[in-house]
Amino acid sequence: MGSINVLGKEISELIAAGEVIDRPSAIVKELTENAIDSGASLVTIEIKNGGRTFIRVTDNGCGIAYEDVPTAFLRHATSKISKQSDLDSIMTLGFRGEALASICAVAKVDVLTKRPEDSLGCKYRICANVQEEYEQTGCPDGTTVIVRDIFYNVPARLKFLKKDVTEGNAIAAIVSKLALSHPDVSFRFIRDNKNDLLTAGDGKLRSAVYCVFGKEFAASLLPVDYSYNGIKVTGFTCKPLMAKANHSFQNFFINNRYVKSMTCMHAVDEAYSNSIMTGKVPSCVLYLAIPPEIIDVNVHPTKIEVRFSNEKLIYDSVYFAVKNALMTEDKEHEMNITQPQRKFTDAQLHPMFKDEKAEQLKMTAPKVEQVAFQQTGKPAYTPTAPLNSRVIQRPEPAVDVQNDKDDKEPLEENEKFQYISQSSFERPQQPVSEPVAESEIEEIVPTVIGEVFKTYIIVQAGEDIYMIDKHAAHERFIFEKLKSDVKSLDTQMLLEPVMVQLSFEEYDAIAQNPEKVQKTGFIIEPDLAPTVAVKGVPVMIADINPADLVPQIAQNLINSKVDPQLDIFDELFHSIACRSAIKANDDSSISELEVIVKAVFNSDNLKYCPHGRPIMIKLSKKDIEKQFKRIV
Ligand code: ADP
Ligand code: MG
Repeated sequence: MGSINVLGKEISELIAAGEVIDRPSAIVKELTENAIDSGASLVTIEIKNGGRTFIRVTDNGCGIAYEDVPTAFLRHATSKISKQSDLDSIMTLGFRGEALASICAVAKVDVLTKRPEDSLGCKYRICANVQEEYEQTGCPDGTTVIVRDIFYNVPARLKFLKKDVTEGNAIAAIVSKLALSHPDVSFRFIRDNKNDLLTAGDGKLRSAVYCVFGKEFAASLLPVDYSYNGIKVTGFTCKPLMAKANHSFQNFFINNRYVKSMTCMHAVDEAYSNSIMTGKVPSCVLYLAIPPEIIDVNVHPTKIEVRFSNEKLIYDSVYFAVKNALMTEDKEHEMNITQPQRKFTDAQLHPMFKDEKAEQLKMTAPKVEQVAFQQTGKPAYTPTAPLNSRVIQRPEPAVDVQNDKDDKEPLEENEKFQYISQSSFERPQQPVSEPVAESEIEEIVPTVIGEVFKTYIIVQAGEDIYMIDKHAAHERFIFEKLKSDVKSLDTQMLLEPVMVQLSFEEYDAIAQNPEKVQKTGFIIEPDLAPTVAVKGVPVMIADINPADLVPQIAQNLINSKVDPQLDIFDELFHSIACRSAIKANDDSSISELEVIVKAVFNSDNLKYCPHGRPIMIKLSKKDIEKQFKRIV
C-alpha cells in the first residue's frame, strides 16, 4: 500500500496559515495593511499582552458588504485583483487574499463592518475556521477586526512566542513603519491601555517622522528631494553630527511600502563617507517613488528584503539624493552656539543644582564666555591685516610620526565638545552647535584674531567670530589633497601573478568592470571562473596581500559604489593626514594659522575633519550681545 496521503482541510489550512502568521506582529501588519487599503483616514491599533491575547484594528474605510464577509475569510479571496494582468499594476498593500484566512485558522476572530452606503452592517465571528456568528447589526462605517488568543489551537507555535514585551515591541516597530509609509493616514497605537503613538495624518512627511521618532530626531534632519532618471527620492536624512550608533534608524520606503535594501543602505553610508564620526551610522527616512515601467521592483508583500533589476540605478539615485541634501545642508540651518539663557534662573545654574539641563548649560556656557573674554579682553595675538592682502604659502605637510601622543589630548578635547553637541541633539532645548556652511562665508574677508588653548584659531569675519580647530582643519585639508592627487593610482607590476579565488558574483563584477578596476591601481584579469589573476597592485599598498583586497574591490562593485576604490585608501589618507597636520598644542605662527584659515574659507570640503568632527563653529555678534544682555 502506498504511503502518500492528501492532507485534510484543517491541517493544510494550519500549514498555510503558518506561512503568513508566525507571531502577533504579522497579524497587526496584515490587519493594518487591510485598513490602509480600505481607504481609511483613521486607523486605531490596540493590543494587550504583546498581542497574544488581544489585537483590535479599527478603521473608517470602505467596509465590507454583509454578503461578502464569510467570503473574505476564504483562502485566495480578495477584492483587489481579479485577473492575471491586474498583477502588473497593483496599487494596494495586499492582493493575495490570504491574510484573513490565515488569521482565522489560528485565532478567534470577531469582525464588525459596515459600508457607508449601507444602513446596517455585519457582525461576524469565526474561530479556527469555524463560523460562529453571522448577523446584521447597526455599527459605524468602516471595519473593526478583533483577534483573540492567537495560536490557542496550535500550542507548539505558542511556545515559540517571545515575552509579551518583545512581541509588543515588534508590533510597535511594524506600526511605526506603516505610519511612516502613509503620512496621509492618522494612526493611533494603544498598548496595554496606554497611548503609544498618534500620528497627525496630515500628509506631511515631517509630521509623520516627528510623531514616530520624536522632536529631537525630527530636528536633526535635512530634507531630501531629488529626481534621478525617473526615480524620485524624498524624505529626510540626518545632519552628519547627529548620526546614530547603528543602522536601525535607516528607513527606506519604496512606493509607500517599507523595505530593507542593502543597496539603499550602502548608498546612504557612502554619501556620508568622510563627513561622519568613525563608528557612527547616518539615519534617514527616505521614500523612493519608482514607476514600475522603469525598473522591476521585486517587493513581495511579506518579504521586506528587496532586490532590484537595476541595483545601480537605485544606488545612484539614493547616493546623489543624500549627497545633494548634505551639500546644501546648512543653508537654512543657522547655528546657535548658545540658547538665550533667560529660560534658566540663577538657581538652576547653581553648582549644587543637579538638574540635567542646568548641568548641560554649565558645561557649555563657560566655553562661550571664555571665547568672548579672550577675544575682547586679551587677544593672544595682535589683530592682523585681512588675509587677502598677504601672500599665503601652503606649508608642506611635514610627516611627523613621533608626535602621535601629543595628538591624543586635543582629540579628547574635541570629543568633549562633540559630546556636548551630541547631547544637545538628544535635548533640543540645549545649545546646538553645527559646522558652518560655506555659503555663509563666501563673501567675507576673515581676520585672524589669534589662538586659544593652542588649538582653536579665533577669526573675525563680518559680524561673526569663528573658532577653527587648527588640527582638524589642517588634517582635512591634507586629506582632500591626497585624495585629489590620487584620482588614478600608480601601479607596481608583480613578478608573478597572484591568483585570487572569488565568489562567482565577485568574479563577474571584476570581469564586467575592467575600466573601474584599472582606476584602483590594480591590474586584475579574469582567469578560470571564479579565479582572477592579479598582475599589478597600487604602489602605495604594494606590501598588502592582494587576496585580502581584491574581494573588497569586487564587493564595492557589487554594491554599485560610485567609486570602487578601497576604503583602505581613505584609512591610509586619514592616517597620513592626521600625522602630517599641525597638532593641537603645537606652537603655530600667525602666518601658519592664516594659511589654515584661508584654506577653510576657500574650500567646499573643509567642513568636517576626516573623522567627521566639525572644523569650525561660529559665534555671531548677535549671540554675544544676547549673552551680555545688550539685546534680548
Ligand atoms: P487581501 O488583502 O490580500 O485582499 P485579505 O485576506 O487581507 O486579502 O482580505 C480579504 C478581503 O477582505 C480584501 O480583499 C478586502 O476586500 C476585504 N477586507 C479585509 N479587511 C478589510 C478592511 N479593513 N476594510 C475593507 N475591506 C477589507
Ligand atoms: Mg490583506
